[in-house]
Amino acid sequence: MGGALGRPCFRPGAERVALIPVREGNGALEALREAREWEPPTLEQLEEALERCLGLPEARTGITTVDLWDALHLARCFECGERRLDRLTRMNRSGQVEPRSPCAACGWS
Ligand SMILES: [Zn+2]
Repeated sequence: MGGALGRPCFRPGAERVALIPVREGNGALEALREAREWEPPTLEQLEEALERCLGLPEARTGITTVDLWDALHLARCFECGERRLDRLTRMNRSGQVEPRSPCAACGWS
């Protein structure tokens, strides 16, 4: 996903959009990261992407989900990481944006 985050999710006629965070693991991305040419997506970016897609008019007729496999490692705060993933899981199911509940530890809001 990386650079595609936040761009319009739906093309005309698309009924299902799955946001999939780019994951390291094959060596190529690790090399790019070491060369400072790429950074893994953050949980914040994932949240923004899903919120934006669910907010689009097209989302009312389609299904938008974010792939949360292994997403806990994207969380950088132990206080709010799991509950933010729980929120995304619920949003995946409901298709509705839930309000954020701010975190005093990291300032996420
Ligand atoms: Zn936090």
